[in-house]
Amino acid sequence: MDAAHRSGLAGLAGLAGLDRRVVGCRACPRLVAWREEVAVAKRAAFSDWTYWGRPVPGFGPPDARLLIVGLAPAAHGGNRTGRMFTGDRSGDVLYRALYEVGLASQPTSVSADDGLRLYGVRVTAPVHCAPPANRPTPEERDTCRPWLVQELRLLRPTLRAVVVLGAFGWQAALPAFAEAGWSVPRPRPAFGHGARVTLARLEGEGGREGREGRGPREGREGHESPLELFGCFHVSQRNTFTGRLTPEMLRDVLRTAADAAGLPR
Ligand code: SF4
Repeated sequence: MDAAHRSGLAGLAGLAGLDRRVVGCRACPRLVAWREEVAVAKRAAFSDWTYWGRPVPGFGPPDARLLIVGLAPAAHGGNRTGRMFTGDRSGDVLYRALYEVGLASQPTSVSADDGLRLYGVRVTAPVHCAPPANRPTPEERDTCRPWLVQELRLLRPTLRAVVVLGAFGWQAALPAFAEAGWSVPRPRPAFGHGARVTLARLEGEGGREGREGRGPREGREGHESPLELFGCFHVSQRNTFTGRLTPEMLRDVLRTAADAAGLPR
């Protein structure tokens, strides 16, 4: 077994384990209460569903080269289906675009067992529980950050590009990149649609926790590779219905990011 394969298997076990642990998290009392209340009350159109009602883990392969970072699961989307961006209008837009640029096996994402596969792409969020009004508090954002940091560390051997959807995700993700071992410029780069920032690796380190010996360290594969960070308006209904974000704009960002990540399309 070669080093790359061993690294891939380690990522598989690590990310699968991380996803299992995320699902059991109850660290934010307000969000725990909300996600469970929604799961019982349900929306009339989904009354025959058994809602997920728990934290929603990231979705996609453990050797992803491109990561998409959103905001948080929707109450009747990810919180119902248990998969990121699945079962809501935002996800309809995102997964169709991923399919159209050759990064997904099908244009729709309706349930966790619908057979959808992503090619070299993983989708996650800085907050894993559905928040009331889609607005996590800064405290909830910060409480959830260690999950994103761990996810980034586990993806480090292969990860080359990230698309962040919206300003909230941008603000939440930048500190996580720094903790996971990339150098984030000061002052922090501003969010904007089409923003592109190159984050250098912190040489020889697994991030702040890695330096202090409290976190996992990566293997040597991809040690020197920087991370290309892209900003994109969020795929929210507000943005897509008003034309602030068009399907073409989204496909353009995804194509550019996929090329930066070295993904075949
Ligand atoms: S938002 Fe994150 S930290 Fe808070 S309960 Fe959900 S998974 Fe845990």
